[in-house]
Amino acid sequence: MRSPSLLSLALLLLAAVVCNAQDFDFFYFVLQWPGSYCDTRQSCCYPTSGKPPADFGIHGLWPNYNDGSYPSNCDPDSPFDESKISDLIGRMRTNWPTLACPSNDGVKFWGHEWEKHGTCAESILDEHSYFQTALNLKNQLNLLQTLQNAGIEPDGGYYSLSSIKEAIKEGTGYTPFIECNVDESRNSQLYQVYFCVDTSGSQLIECPVFPRGRCDSRIEFPAF
Ligand code: AMP
Ligand code: AMP
Repeated sequence: MRSPSLLSLALLLLAAVVCNAQDFDFFYFVLQWPGSYCDTRQSCCYPTSGKPPADFGIHGLWPNYNDGSYPSNCDPDSPFDESKISDLIGRMRTNWPTLACPSNDGVKFWGHEWEKHGTCAESILDEHSYFQTALNLKNQLNLLQTLQNAGIEPDGGYYSLSSIKEAIKEGTGYTPFIECNVDESRNSQLYQVYFCVDTSGSQLIECPVFPRGRCDSRIEFPAF
């Protein structure tokens, strides 16, 4: 029998490299305060399943590059399939609520997130693992409790941006990025909190790069 040629060994090596190729550098895991989505000029609609809990909801788990750019809509042949996450729907409704109008069951939001962002991590996380990973990260971070432990409550009060960042760093071990938006009176408020996660989705990391955008030095934490 012939021993494998140098060429076939080289091809095997190439295939291994290609299969392991990372198509992104890290994830942003983005949590959203529903009170700050709803008190804006655009307003919101509760999902058909009812008003979500007064807790941070998941916005998404987004593959990103270290230069700040990101891939999107990576696989048109992998449309969102609700049947693949039927065992997660209860947790999805509670933890990943849609707030878009008109009121709907959330499948549109989840499908958008899978198709725009999730398909760019498909070589690592299939649809079920993608959503499960995000749900588990939210559980692990326990963000609202972390803030409340530091006396930062969603009570319509104002808190310094630095105290919010400090409380989150203290409670989770990781430096967050805080995104603000404005309410109907143009007050700057806590809208979304970004964490960074390694490409496996299993380990929080310090962010290689932060998104752009700024908050006032004191921001509102509106009720929901
Ligand atoms: P993305 O495309 O993943 O960057 O997310 C932005 C899109 O998600 C925009 O169309 C937003 O209006 C929408 N969006 C953000 N938060 C929510 C939410 N809680 N429910 C429904 N749609 C949302
Ligand atoms: P600055 O306050 O713009 O001088 O930024 C000081 C540091 O905080 C830099 O490392 C920024 O990347 C980071 N940073 C700026 N704005 C935010 C924010 N809204 N949330 C979290 N980190 C921020």
